[in-house]
Amino acid sequence: MAHEDCIFCKIINGDIPSAKVYEDDKVYAFLDISQVTKGHTLVIPKTHTKNIYETPPETASELFSRVPKIAAAIKERYNPIGMNLLNNNEAPADQSVFHLHIHIIPRYDDGDGFS
Ligand code: 5GP
Ligand code: ZN
Repeated sequence: MAHEDCIFCKIINGDIPSAKVYEDDKVYAFLDISQVTKGHTLVIPKTHTKNIYETPPETASELFSRVPKIAAAIKERYNPIGMNLLNNNEAPADQSVFHLHIHIIPRYDDGDGFS
């Protein structure tokens, strides 16, 4: 169920536009508005959950099960030389949007991949 005032729920609903990378009935992936590197993507469950502590195992399983396919698609599209997966939980650990998300951050030999 969508969570009032959650920007990622609004992105899932299409109330806020986003650059879609992948979507199915359980998961949505889209480009991070602040591209740390080229192709920086966020993968989120369609069910609102604040962070890893509040995530039911089934939701976590659905989310993580899509990551290899999405990572492979990003690798194919952007041709990075490596890739980091990152998940921040709570503000002291740099969580700024309180809807669970996994960052996929491609890595390039020139840095951010834009040059
Ligand atoms: P966090 O800091 O919570 O781990 O990551 C949240 C991410 O969401 C940040 O990297 C930030 O750039 C991204 N973000 C915040 N608002 C929006 C938005 O409206 N659209 C998109 N595409 N990304 C957003
Ligand atoms: Zn949400």
